[in-house]
Amino acid sequence: MNQIVLASGNKGKLKEFSELMVDYGVEILAQSEFNVSEVAETGTTFVENAIIKARHAAEITGHAAIADDSGLEVDFLQGAPGIYSARYAGEGAKDQQNYTKLLNALENQSLRGARFQCVLVYMRHAKDPTPIICQASWEGTIGFAPQGENGHGYDPIFIPADHQSSAAELSSDEKNQLSHRGKALVLLIAAMKQQGIFN
Ligand code: IMP
Repeated sequence: MNQIVLASGNKGKLKEFSELMVDYGVEILAQSEFNVSEVAETGTTFVENAIIKARHAAEITGHAAIADDSGLEVDFLQGAPGIYSARYAGEGAKDQQNYTKLLNALENQSLRGARFQCVLVYMRHAKDPTPIICQASWEGTIGFAPQGENGHGYDPIFIPADHQSSAAELSSDEKNQLSHRGKALVLLIAAMKQQGIFN
């Protein structure tokens, strides 16, 4: 089986990637299995941060690595929190603190358009000069209060376009079909197939 390290400590993402990759004979390994330390996300774009994380995981584990860098862009906030989504309410903030800060920032606002962005990077090894880079987004609006128990991050306050309920009320299968990460993964799998990385 093809083994690829996922450069993330997020259990939700590990589950999403494993579910989507298993059909291609790929086993996704958690970077925690190799004691990969967190690396500072010093880039100013999703692309730079994803490359930093994939390179770091590949360097430490000796395996090919996939990294995801994702975040939520809110129109009223000119694209914030963007690459700072995970630390919107401060370094080490919990999901609930981040989405509560966002709900407060949009209090009484009718302009509530937003989208999740996802960049995925595959690096064959730490010095790979041509990483595969794929990008996708998921349009929606920010709700007025958290709803639902599934998912992670900002899911309880993100209402996908053409839906009445939040992303945290979707099943993981439904979310994988619609989400920025699910769509970016489909693109990544197609690019990896095209490059002969797997069939
Ligand atoms: P990253 O782990 O550095 O990519 O940071 C991603 C940030 O965006 C975290 O705060 C996540 O909670 C948030 N985020 C990314 N994708 C999703 C999603 O599918 N649902 C909810 N929040 C997400």
